Amino acid sequence: MSETKPLRLLVIDDDPAIAQTISVIARSAGLETEITCAPDEFFRALEARPPDFIALDLVMPQMDGVEVMLKLASFGCRARIIITSGLGSRVMDAAGRSATENGLVIAGILAKPFSAGTLRKLLSVEPKTAPMAPPTVTLAASAGALAMADRDELREALRAGKIVPYYQPKIKCRSGRLSGFEVLARWLDPPRGPVPPDHFIALAEREGLIDLLSEVILESSLKWFGARFTNSDVSLAINLSAITISNAAAARDASPVAGFVEHVTRRCEESGVEPRRVVFELTESSAMRDPAASLNLLTRLRMKGFHLSLDDFGTGYSSMLQLVRLPFSEIKVDRSFVSTALVSEESSAVVRSIVDLGHSLGLTCVAEGVEDARTLSYLNEIGCDLAQGFGIGRPMDSDAVDEWMQSRPWRRGENEH
Ligand code: C2E
Ligand code: CA
Ligand code: CA
Repeated sequence: MSETKPLRLLVIDDDPAIAQTISVIARSAGLETEITCAPDEFFRALEARPPDFIALDLVMPQMDGVEVMLKLASFGCRARIIITSGLGSRVMDAAGRSATENGLVIAGILAKPFSAGTLRKLLSVEPKTAPMAPPTVTLAASAGALAMADRDELREALRAGKIVPYYQPKIKCRSGRLSGFEVLARWLDPPRGPVPPDHFIALAEREGLIDLLSEVILESSLKWFGARFTNSDVSLAINLSAITISNAAAARDASPVAGFVEHVTRRCEESGVEPRRVVFELTESSAMRDPAASLNLLTRLRMKGFHLSLDDFGTGYSSMLQLVRLPFSEIKVDRSFVSTALVSEESSAVVRSIVDLGHSLGLTCVAEGVEDARTLSYLNEIGCDLAQGFGIGRPMDSDAVDEWMQSRPWRRGENEH
């Protein structure tokens, strides 16, 4: 019979007394531990026996904790890291964010002096990457897989129907019921798998193909949606590029604007989808390119009944201004805050404030980047309306949407047909 191996914690702290304390607490929680007091020793131990957890002091004489984290990131370290230090929480939060941005997994932050209970809790934290539902698709594309794609290849892919919509569900935080789907473009390229948009949206924008791409995605997602969700309140959210907005809004006379508004309205009619079930997602920068013309365009879209969502809220420069000035009906809290809400006091404060701000302006609040059940229940506690993220459902093709709907325990009574 095989015995399960105890989890292993590697500690690095230049103060041996603190390292010892951490180690004793971790052992009492059933972990195996090893203490190191300097970076050389730490990296040797790391190589000899990769740990499940690392407790890392941020301030040490020979090398600071941020440098250690950068080095860990360059090794592709997957251990869950607990950052320890006596620095203020803002500095520690910033260090945690920098680590996460570099691809490290942060279990949490331990401010000194700390209690045994706090440390034990961090050591029992489920890995942040564990989804609530198994992933339904793999994004096989490795970074740079499409680095060589050019205008002709993209145009050919668009013509051949290889740029297709994938759908990521949004649910109501309170009831867990389906609220809608966000449409996310994928390039189907069999050897590479479904390639995500980071590899081709910028190319399409640069090469004048973005309006064609928007049209392909709009047409095929509306067709699917109109056929799949009739007589239902489920919504469909479509991303609009800054360029599509400014192309539609650029000319000062009203006709091009009318052209775009009429065009999307007609597409909705053809697919049997009422405009009130369609949400256009825009980022702050796209709404700002030509403020007067976009105000005109967006107002006309709202007058037709479409909803407008301010995407990636919290990352731009004039968020407040755009939020108040333009006729949005929804805000999406950027995933960089949501995915760290449970490990960073700053992020959780930002998420809470955005939800309060949104509600005080009468907007629906959506949190994106919800990767686990604990984050979802936090969002419910603070009154966030909707949630979207890998922990709820990955972006998937239409067949996988059907499977996902079937696998949901609360699907009975869900207003889908
Ligand atoms: P976005 O509008 O912010 O879309 C959300 C992105 O977050 C998607 O990336 C989605 O896969 C990812 N995501 C969702 N949940 C999680 C999570 O729990 N954790 C993490 N780490 N990521 C999550 P994706 O599909 O790669 O799309 C990237 C961006 O490309 C989108 O960002 C959007 O700005 C753009 N995009 C996608 N489809 C279209 C399109 O049809 N037209 C235009 N103009 N832009 C598009
Ligand atoms: Ca979006
Ligand atoms: Ca977003």
